[in-house]
Amino acid sequence: MLQVEDVDFEKLDEITVSPLSRNPTEFVHRIRYGKDTKHRRFQRRQKPISLDSTKPEGHTRFVCISDTHSKHRNLIYDLPKGDVLLHCGDFTERGKLEEVQDFNDWLGEQKAFKHKIVIAGNHDLSFDPELMEDIRRCKREGSYRRFQFLDSIPEEITNNWTSVLNNCLYLQDAEVKVNGIRIYGTAWNPMFGGWAFNTSRGQPLLDKWNKIPGDGIDILMTHSPPAGQLDQVHPDGERVGCVELMNTVQLRVQPKYHVFGHIHESYGYNYDGAHRFINCTSVNLEMVPSNKPVIIDLPTPEGAKEGISGFVQH
Ligand code: 5GP
Ligand code: MN
Ligand code: MN
Repeated sequence: MLQVEDVDFEKLDEITVSPLSRNPTEFVHRIRYGKDTKHRRFQRRQKPISLDSTKPEGHTRFVCISDTHSKHRNLIYDLPKGDVLLHCGDFTERGKLEEVQDFNDWLGEQKAFKHKIVIAGNHDLSFDPELMEDIRRCKREGSYRRFQFLDSIPEEITNNWTSVLNNCLYLQDAEVKVNGIRIYGTAWNPMFGGWAFNTSRGQPLLDKWNKIPGDGIDILMTHSPPAGQLDQVHPDGERVGCVELMNTVQLRVQPKYHVFGHIHESYGYNYDGAHRFINCTSVNLEMVPSNKPVIIDLPTPEGAKEGISGFVQH
């Protein structure tokens, strides 16, 4: 097993598109866990913090969930108490107004958290401005488009979702500090089926990841996984995570934690010697919200400003 000391954690300022972008399984096999690179890493399962444990003194507790798909009221496990609830997207099935309103109402009922931070996923269709623009264009031109039913949501709302989704802080290519701990959130995910925030692998996705600051993000929230960590799909274990996201995380951004969801069959918690990866999808492959929320306890930095500060839209 590769030891932490053996890993060259050289920090690269710029990452170029991998020739294996479109073949994450091969990339992981040959490059990431293979022998032919100094940037190889390993995967090791981590034991999650027990849901009934008490928070250590001087820490901020994050409770991570994802992919509730409008089943937030049917979670099998109650949410443990924490300071911050993180949701990594796919909080609805289709991004309908009623779904968002109900999710927001439910967030409001989660009194155990001072703060709630949410990003969108590919199912939260109406949060993608380009997709909504296309739906409206098709409507104007009188042509049919999939998801056309979303054009009933007033434009004032889709242009300003925070007027409805107001029981949390919504991040899209944006960062914020909670108790001095820096969090960045983004919904972009590899093209699959023409859903929201779908982006082509390679340079187009790398352009999105290049917005993430490389100077000390503590928790990175994305909807989709990086290639090589908790990104395997049923039934043959094919990897579908983003190669450029993995390079960005391990070589440039180097967050303490990378939390995501999206691949329902790859729920889990891994460590690569430097970064911790959490796929906190709440639903499983059968769409039953049966996975446990995952706890992150991070030391609250000395003298940090309490609460929310430092919001930056990138
Ligand atoms: P969702 O539709 O909720 O975004 O994803 C549900 C399931 O679709 C995942 O658990 C996974 O099985 C499959 N899926 C999502 N994205 C991809 C992808 O890029 N490639 C493949 N092969 N399957 C995917
Ligand atoms: Mn999902
Ligand atoms: Mn998804």
